[in-house]
Amino acid sequence: MYKKNVHKRKIQSVAVLCSGGDAPGMNAAIRAVVRSSIAECLQVFGVVKGYTGLVEGDFVELELASVANIIQRGGTILKTARCPEFLRANGRKQAADNLRNKGIDALVVIGGDGSFRGAHAFWKENKIPVIGVPGTIDNDIAGTDITIGFDTAVNTALRAIDQVRDTASAHERTFLVEVMGRNSGNIALEVGIGGGAEAIVIPEEKMSPKEVAARIERGVRRGKTSSIIVVAEGDVPGGRAMQLAKELEKKYKIGAKVCILGHVQRGGSPSALDRKIASVFGAEAIYSLLKGKSDLMVGIYGNKTVYVPFAKAVQKKNTIDRDLIKLAQVLAT
Ligand code: ADP
Repeated sequence: MYKKNVHKRKIQSVAVLCSGGDAPGMNAAIRAVVRSSIAECLQVFGVVKGYTGLVEGDFVELELASVANIIQRGGTILKTARCPEFLRANGRKQAADNLRNKGIDALVVIGGDGSFRGAHAFWKENKIPVIGVPGTIDNDIAGTDITIGFDTAVNTALRAIDQVRDTASAHERTFLVEVMGRNSGNIALEVGIGGGAEAIVIPEEKMSPKEVAARIERGVRRGKTSSIIVVAEGDVPGGRAMQLAKELEKKYKIGAKVCILGHVQRGGSPSALDRKIASVFGAEAIYSLLKGKSDLMVGIYGNKTVYVPFAKAVQKKNTIDRDLIKLAQVLAT
């Protein structure tokens, strides 16, 4: 599509990395970056372990075959990491020097809002073009309807909830199922609706133990023999579900089993949707670089591919869908 005057282009070589928390579908995004780069006659390198590999100059050239048979795999073949050195300007300068020494003209960062904060600072200071691809199971990036990994994480959690419901119902028990989301209730809300939870406890909407107890008791009064409460982990040591179970026991004499889904939600083969958006985002990252863009993230908004400045993307989505919360309450009665 952009193959004209190939030798005159400012960008001849790109690097791609994954940073921060991993998300299913990152491999599909790497594959799309590599294959669209090669289709556009660009040389393409993978950076091992995110910004750590950038600061240490750990690059590996990728060919068409390097990304064969990975679209269906969770995790990331490039590995991901958190990198304290990149928080400092001299770490970022080292990273830029390494890219220049290797003859790499631009960078694609697959990650979440923290990674985009780093990418934004990197661009401002070093003027090496950088494009972001939103990869986080939390779906909490502003300017895009969806991030890579969210759909798979929701479906993984939903399967687990269906299984927990079988045993909850057999033993007539209340289960608190904790899903990921320290500051974001997106997974919990989606899973709570899909799994028919009796209550959904999320960081964005305070729900007291009294209210949770009232919902469980209301269910019991109308003949329910088991309850599933979906709880986002929250920013609570040991997780919100454990804390809530203790509160329910102590104050309301409700014995609830806790099931913490934890890291299973990060793993596994990506869903069809995650593979598709990862493919679209990865390719679009390369096209945007060839159009001369930088300092932005590719996203999908209202079914259209969009470019979102990093400065906006890192503001995070703090708008949980209030209509969905209401719907969950109506359907749980
Ligand atoms: P995520 O991208 O999943 O939100 P993190 O918040 O852990 O993950 O960020 C990943 C990495 O991005 C950090 O380890 C750090 O190297 C870099 N980073 C995060 N915030 C900043 C920042 N404000 N400035 C520079 N680099 C940052």
